[in-house]
Amino acid sequence: MSIPVIAYLGIGSNLGDPVQNCREALRQISALKGSEVLRRSSLYRTEPVGVETQDWCVNGVAELRTALPAVQLLKALQWVERSMGRVRAERWGPRVIDIDILLFGQEIMNTEGLVVPHPEMHRRRFVLVPIAEIASYVIHPLYGVSMKGLLDRLEDHHAVERIGGDW
Ligand code: ATP
Ligand code: MG
Ligand code: MG
Repeated sequence: MSIPVIAYLGIGSNLGDPVQNCREALRQISALKGSEVLRRSSLYRTEPVGVETQDWCVNGVAELRTALPAVQLLKALQWVERSMGRVRAERWGPRVIDIDILLFGQEIMNTEGLVVPHPEMHRRRFVLVPIAEIASYVIHPLYGVSMKGLLDRLEDHHAVERIGGDW
């Protein structure tokens, strides 16, 4: 365990009951050692990016205070994914749950298994809308621009529709 940092997690699902899957993921994340969920965004129904033929996704963002080092956190999140039945198939394909580390404090990491900030977050409306809802002031450590600023400048026009805040 190290000094706690604030991390932002992107949570998404487009298989089975996606709202229930996001809820279950968040429940398991809240129970992680040395970790506490401080805020959660609303859930959003989002148009798929990448493989455009699949169903719409449900996405949200959680703010976590965690004393786990980033690599340990990723391992724990992958364990949650597996426990919920995620099978590694096509990248960007349908999945019961996807949990990504978007930001880990202001850390910049680039290893084979972990890239932080998440390399696509600044291009994705389904990430920037929920993160800006709960942490519009947070600065992207590579670009020096806030979440709100990134959203204002965003060119991704895939639809992102608020479902509700109860999850
Ligand atoms: P994308 O990364 O474009 O959102 P994805 O989430 O569908 O795609 P996954 O299949 O969930 O991709 O993960 C592929 C690999 O990405 C994982 O094995 C993991 O090691 C790696 N990875 C690198 N950086 C991160 C990060 N910040 N958060 C989660 N996984 C990451
Ligand atoms: Mg992802
Ligand atoms: Mg992932």
